[in-house]
Amino acid sequence: MLQDKTAVVTGGTRGIGRAVVETFLKNGAKVVLFGSRQETVDQALSELKEEHPDWTVTGLAPDLTDYSSVEKAMGQVKNQYGRIDILVNNAGISARESIYEYDPEAFKKIMDLNVNGVFNCSKAVAPIMKGQGGGSMINISSMVSLYGQPAGCGYPASKYAVNGLTKSLARELGRDQIRVNAVAPGVTRTDMVAALPEDMVQRLAATIPYGRVGEPEEVANTVLFLASELASYVTGAVISVDGAAMC
Ligand code: NAD
Repeated sequence: MLQDKTAVVTGGTRGIGRAVVETFLKNGAKVVLFGSRQETVDQALSELKEEHPDWTVTGLAPDLTDYSSVEKAMGQVKNQYGRIDILVNNAGISARESIYEYDPEAFKKIMDLNVNGVFNCSKAVAPIMKGQGGGSMINISSMVSLYGQPAGCGYPASKYAVNGLTKSLARELGRDQIRVNAVAPGVTRTDMVAALPEDMVQRLAATIPYGRVGEPEEVANTVLFLASELASYVTGAVISVDGAAMC
């Protein structure tokens, strides 16, 4: 589905991002994964290459919160592969603090990665996609971007902003044949969920009409659809992958 396409996936070393990287590679794309540290990037690359030596996958560790670092990294990808067809803005952190304990610096930090990081990557890639005649950006939002959550308000606030960027950039970049969509996962089995207390995960799972938490591959398959030509007229959408959860 993605033969001859080049994709950048942020936070591609583990969790949902890693599942997206593997799904894209299985579907013929060349992938550049971004991680927060070069060691974790190198580790992920060696695991992927051990599994499939024929896959074209490389990695970088730019500071997503710093525009010049992101612009330099996207320039390197463009120089190496000649184009960037797909950008998946996946890297993100969550929060659980109540407003009474919430450190304002922690609020700034979550906005910096989850919102400024998406803005920085989108801004750096947009001219490259425009110059080559189009592309597809997919932002990983969250079901809490639709309902909020009862603690850690910085996380849903950041994901509401991600939806805002998605819908606005879809309108702004449509004429340049750049589609911009978001996927809003529900509770998905990754390290982010493993960090939650087990009773909280059980309580969450019990409220999900489909009766279970989601798997990273289920999110990745929706990202694959949005990245592919099957979604050629889909832009500005926020697609839930959450088992019909209403948190
Ligand atoms: P995870 O913690 O397993 O992985 C997060 C990824 O982000 C990692 O690859 C990590 O390297 C990267 N990252 C973290 N901090 C970074 C930084 N400062 N700079 C660059 N990269 C950084 O999380 P996950 O569950 O796979 O989450 C991926 C995305 O999905 C996030 O945007 C998250 O908000 C969203 N999401 C997850 C769930 C869930 O239940 N797991 C639900 C809804 C949305």
